[in-house]
Amino acid sequence: MSKNCHTIHQWFNGMKKHSFPFNEQEIPLNGVYILFEKGEFAHSTSRIVRIGTHTGNNQLCSRLFQHFLNENKDRSIFRKNIGRALLNKDKDSFLEQWEIDLTTKNAKELHSNSVDFIKQKETEKRVTKYIQDNFSFVVFQVDDKDQRLEIESKIISTVSLCDECKSSETWLGNFSPKEKIRKSGLWLVNELWKTPLSDKDMIELKQMLNIK
Ligand SMILES: [Zn+2]
Repeated sequence: MSKNCHTIHQWFNGMKKHSFPFNEQEIPLNGVYILFEKGEFAHSTSRIVRIGTHTGNNQLCSRLFQHFLNENKDRSIFRKNIGRALLNKDKDSFLEQWEIDLTTKNAKELHSNSVDFIKQKETEKRVTKYIQDNFSFVVFQVDDKDQRLEIESKIISTVSLCDECKSSETWLGNFSPKEKIRKSGLWLVNELWKTPLSDKDMIELKQMLNIK
């Protein structure tokens, strides 16, 4: 078992948990979020299922809205991955269309006749409902962008490398077409199995979380 993974699970689970609808006033302008999902446990508490942050200045809250509220899978890889798993679980062939990135005007025009936009809207609604009903999160403030990205990556690696952090048999991510999601038990495909938190990082993280 990873001792540091155990410790961060206790720290994060001891913090104020938010769920949808959350109070914007309680979200720092800049920081990292840690997601928990109903039915998922590790280290005798809720299992961390995703770690995320944002690059643009003061965008933490808007990033969370992109996941929890904005019905546009092409703005949130998290939404895209939840949709992939829901569709794959149903063996729904719409999955192929869900993969198409419709962000640009060109792409929209190119696919205007081949994408079932009614089905797409329905799927977005399902994704929103699944996310709002099943996920809660904690946040902590990190003002510096490079520091945010570094701590995010190290937490992801710590959890993915931990052999006690395992998904439940009924976890939705087990139906993901992405092998990295199924294997890691995390709604993530990047920064897995890299450099975990060192003991020095743990001291710094503890300070960031204001834990005495
Ligand atoms: Zn763990």
